[in-house]
Amino acid sequence: MLIGGQWVSAEADATFASSNPATGAVLGYAPAAGAAETTRAVDAAHHAFAGWSRRPAAERGRILTAVADLLLERRDLLAELITAEEGKPLRDARNEIAASADLLRWYAEEGRRAYGRWIPDPLGDRRLFTVRRPVGVTAAITPWNVPASMIARKAAPALAAGCTVVVKPAEQTPLTGLAVARVFHDAGVPAGVFNLVTGPPAPIGRALLGDPRVRKLSFTGSTEVGRHLMREAAQQITRVSLELGGNAPFLVFADADLDAAVESLISAKFRNCGQACISANRVLVQRSIAGDLTERLADVAGRLRVGDGFDEATQVGPLVDDAALRRVEQVVDAAVADGARVVAGGRRLSGPEHAAGNFFAPTVLTGVRPGMSVVDEEIFGPVAPVLVFDSEDEAVSAANATPYGLAAYLYTRDLGRALRVAERLDVGLVGINDQRISAAEAPFGGVKLSGIGREGGSEGLDEHLETTVIAVGLAG
Ligand code: NAP
Repeated sequence: MLIGGQWVSAEADATFASSNPATGAVLGYAPAAGAAETTRAVDAAHHAFAGWSRRPAAERGRILTAVADLLLERRDLLAELITAEEGKPLRDARNEIAASADLLRWYAEEGRRAYGRWIPDPLGDRRLFTVRRPVGVTAAITPWNVPASMIARKAAPALAAGCTVVVKPAEQTPLTGLAVARVFHDAGVPAGVFNLVTGPPAPIGRALLGDPRVRKLSFTGSTEVGRHLMREAAQQITRVSLELGGNAPFLVFADADLDAAVESLISAKFRNCGQACISANRVLVQRSIAGDLTERLADVAGRLRVGDGFDEATQVGPLVDDAALRRVEQVVDAAVADGARVVAGGRRLSGPEHAAGNFFAPTVLTGVRPGMSVVDEEIFGPVAPVLVFDSEDEAVSAANATPYGLAAYLYTRDLGRALRVAERLDVGLVGINDQRISAAEAPFGGVKLSGIGREGGSEGLDEHLETTVIAVGLAG
């Protein structure tokens, strides 16, 4: 692990294995840290904070740009590690590294724009203004589904703002986390500014949030864990941003360009095997085109090539682990037992090329309804339940009928409707006739049980800055 610029093992050399979800092969071992190592990482981050936060933002930006350059230089190696540990097709893993570099480059510049403001004085004999200061040591806890870019997305704004970080990557993808840490280290990020510890979550989380020197938690993961961490953060009134689960509706109105809608839906649903917080979770289709859209969707889904991410022909990789595979299977079986009809897929793949991995066939279900877990819960797998609506009002209420509120997508050629519906959707991100809703420049995050706070954009920098008011009396 990287602590205070040194590569260290866990106490007593404890380790845990990381394995390949496509083959079951063990890839390697990572240190299993606990509270003691985590506290050493916080010590290092705390000591490094004074120097890092005082550097001019432009200088910090030059170092972040060097990290971006080195990420791209090591793109092939890092992408191979992501595919091996997480399973996504190699070209998607390469795109993840490009996106990580883009985040670093953008924040390298944005850190220079942490402006304060000048405030008119109601008394007349003072001058009032604000300055923005980095909050301090930031804890970043990241999930496995985008294991490199999640680290970049948290570290880039934190470091640009002048904070130092302690990262804990997910247990399924520690090797990617360690390789990303190596890039930060090798690119010249000073000792203690970026630290990364691997290991079981509970002791690491407790050590981070029980420590008064940690002033900010940036978490991406499930709503359940987010809720738990928010409670732990209450001890030290640690500032939190939480990017949690989703249940994104994908709305298709009768006047939509169906070819474009299907192409986009395939991507929004099956990219990363459906394992993204912004994956389309429920397909809502206007009645007159429901049959046509379902048929096209099932046809394309049924032809997607599922396999090892290292195979160039693969379009959909494995689920991350056996538990994820069993959960998807359970959700589909329960829906079918409750009257759902399988129009594509519907089962795990167990032929010779799939036997050792966690593969599930891209699935389309009809005859589903609220009350079924496949509709009410985040599926996090390659399953598209199709529901039907009649009116615009009905579509909006169905879309909003979830405690989650991260992303939504809608397809229509009617501009008025597109804007009316987009403004009524209770989510943080809406894609109109496009499923590409994320960019370094744009704030990303959800409402309701999908979390609080934003990553990306100037909002992502704000999350790492405190505001101090300075009042200057003119009389003396
Ligand atoms: P998870 O179980 O909540 O894990 C996420 C991270 O939290 C992992 O690093 C995990 O460590 C850690 N963690 C778990 N319990 C903890 C504890 N008690 N204290 C401290 N850390 C703890 O989520 P996941 O299953 O890996 O990821 C899938 C979820 O993430 C989905 O719900 C998805 O929607 C959400 N997600 C949201 C976004 C977004 O931006 N809104 C983006 C991607 C994913 P271990 O791995 O060691 O357990």
